[in-house]
Amino acid sequence: MPGEGLDAALKAAVEFKAQGIGSLLTRLGENVKNLSEAGDVVEHYESLFARVAQDGLDAEISVKPTQLGLDIDPAAAYSNLERLARAAAKTKSFLWIDMEGSAYTEPTLDLYRRLRADHPRTGIALQSYLHRTVDDVVKLLPLKPAIRLVKGAYAEPPAIAFAAKKDVDANYLALCTLMLPHVKQGKLRLVLATHDVELIARIERIARALGLERARMEVAMLYGIRADQQARLAREGFVVKDLISYGDAWYAWYLRRLAERPANVLFVARQLF
Ligand SMILES: Cc1cc2nc3c(=O)[nH]c(=O)nc-3n(C[C@H](O)[C@H](O)[C@H](O)COP(=O)(O)OP(=O)(O)OC[C@H]3O[C@@H](n4cnc5c(N)ncnc54)[C@H](O)[C@@H]3O)c2cc1C
Repeated sequence: MPGEGLDAALKAAVEFKAQGIGSLLTRLGENVKNLSEAGDVVEHYESLFARVAQDGLDAEISVKPTQLGLDIDPAAAYSNLERLARAAAKTKSFLWIDMEGSAYTEPTLDLYRRLRADHPRTGIALQSYLHRTVDDVVKLLPLKPAIRLVKGAYAEPPAIAFAAKKDVDANYLALCTLMLPHVKQGKLRLVLATHDVELIARIERIARALGLERARMEVAMLYGIRADQQARLAREGFVVKDLISYGDAWYAWYLRRLAERPANVLFVARQLF
């Protein structure tokens, strides 16, 4: 994280823009406890869309459905999302819906299917560790969706998710093989949200065989992770976005990052001592 406050995130977005890298902004927080908290989140993002447009930043916004009240009232969460989709349209930006743990997969897809019908500047994250994702992709494709493909960051049981990293990676590749022809036809916006540069290179080879140029391949990574690779991919002509998180509700987010890469625990310990 560049810092807890929005100003630090916006400053980072300005610096990325100078390097030809776009930003995805997200205020940390999930599972709000009441709808007035969700309302505050909506107001925050509405004014952020306006600020991004006013400052001429190359930035999109990503939100968690449980940050908008999905746990409390799905209808209210939907109308919150719609407000943000309208703000994205008004400022010619883009609204992404994060994918959370598997308890929320179906309700999140429901929200997106409804939203996409009226709001083209919206997209959803899907996770390659879930067995169901291939069916979800096939069902979404007729909607001309935007899909941000991630491997998945939550602890899920083997009954519903691949446990071995090699299977998650193989499914990621298979899902991209399925989706790339739709990108080529202009019917899908696909963002490869991964730091796995070897996997990105394999996907690029498939894209090249389809005649899909690099300028139509999008990659997104998290702030501070593989920054050198983000810069390299941007130099080589990929569309690159950096997901910048900010805010004080960083604890759950931080634990997921540690779980992804236990070596980071050692890294933190070294900084402490
Ligand atoms: C833009 C973006 C949006 C995301 N949105 C979601 C979402 O909505 N829902 C969701 O479930 N998950 C989301 N994630 C997280 C994702 O699911 C993975 O947990 C995370 O990206 C790590 O997997 P990987 O694809 O980078 O591959 P991995 O195979 O885990 O990592 C590949 C390489 O990247 C480096 N790396 C990866 N993670 C770290 C780290 N934390 N610290 C240091 N190095 C690291 C390592 O060198 C590793 O070898 C998002 C990730 C990104 C980049």
